[in-house]
Amino acid sequence: MNGDFETARYRDLIADRLAALDAEDARGQAGQSTVALDQQAMGRLSRQDALLNQSMAKATQARRDAQRRALHAALARIDAGDFGYCADCGDPIAPKRLELDPTHTRCIGCASG
Ligand SMILES: [Zn+2]
Repeated sequence: MNGDFETARYRDLIADRLAALDAEDARGQAGQSTVALDQQAMGRLSRQDALLNQSMAKATQARRDAQRRALHAALARIDAGDFGYCADCGDPIAPKRLELDPTHTRCIGCASG
């Protein structure tokens, strides 16, 4: 089991990342409304650019949504006491690896194998 101190540290880390995702969401939405304005003002080529930008913005949004789900899943694992253990082999995941990305569910051996 991870100690309370360590668990609190990862909770903070996850909360920080969720807050960063919210900030990126806000910026992304601002970017999308700019695209909508451009679309009305410009011709067909620009419209294609705008649509491309919009689809990229959607892909970025989807990535953030997936990341957000993974972070919430990590919080659920902390609550359940499963956090920090490999989902495949059950070994502890290296703390450095979790600090880099707390959504990892497998140890480096299983993830790279
Ligand atoms: Zn493993």
